[in-house]
Amino acid sequence: MIIAENVEKWYDNNFHVLRGVSLTVKKGEVVVIMGPSGSGKSTFIRTFNALEAYQKGRIIIDGIHLSHDLKNIETIRREVGMVFQQFNLFPHLSVLSNITLAPIWVRRWTKARAEEVAMQLLERVGILEQAHKFPGQLSGGQQQRVAIARALAMQPKIMLFDEPTSALDPEMVREVLDVMRSLAKSGMTMVCVTHEVGFAREVADRVVLMADGVLVEEGTPEAFFNTPQEERTKKFLSQIL
Ligand code: ADP
Ligand code: MG
Repeated sequence: MIIAENVEKWYDNNFHVLRGVSLTVKKGEVVVIMGPSGSGKSTFIRTFNALEAYQKGRIIIDGIHLSHDLKNIETIRREVGMVFQQFNLFPHLSVLSNITLAPIWVRRWTKARAEEVAMQLLERVGILEQAHKFPGQLSGGQQQRVAIARALAMQPKIMLFDEPTSALDPEMVREVLDVMRSLAKSGMTMVCVTHEVGFAREVADRVVLMADGVLVEEGTPEAFFNTPQEERTKKFLSQIL
């Protein structure tokens, strides 16, 4: 589903943020990316849906080459859903409209069809009764579940999560992780930047450590957490475990 090979990126200020990063994700796999703040995790996963350009290497998403000039951007955005730390819901639109907006405008669904699918998704993420409220009227955990439903409404083949629970109060982390866990069980291909060790241990097929723009270590959850090989990984784990 995802092939990233020796991806290199410099920001405009010449900061070399990705220094040859390679990662392959198979259909149905769940990969968790961990690593210190500023190591390039967000930048890296944002290249997968062309939110960030890159300058060297190559990225192929479900057979589509993500060229450096972002030519296939529309196709890719349809196939790759993304959930952000700060939810990024449209504050002036109801929950239902947040979810139906892209299917109506991008997929050209009728409003009726888009609303039907949206209601099914709201039920799936456990907040059907919130459909007619506005984002500001919901808790953080509920907003994040709307954001997940909104991404799923486009029927993506891949879901990217960028620290989806980092902005939540502790009691709301679980409800979001539960939705992610059931999504993983349904066979969705997922790349999740998260420091939720319990989630990684239980759900991830592989855990990856990223530091200073490179992938330091990659392994099964058991190998990664129990017998890390690299000093950098051991140091990182000693800080979060
Ligand atoms: P992470 O998600 O691992 O915390 P990021 O990918 O957000 O890391 O950022 C990696 C590095 O790139 C950081 O040092 C950050 O300051 C820098 N950076 C992020 N966005 C930009 C930008 N638009 N321009 C310049 N530098 C940036
Ligand atoms: Mg980040």
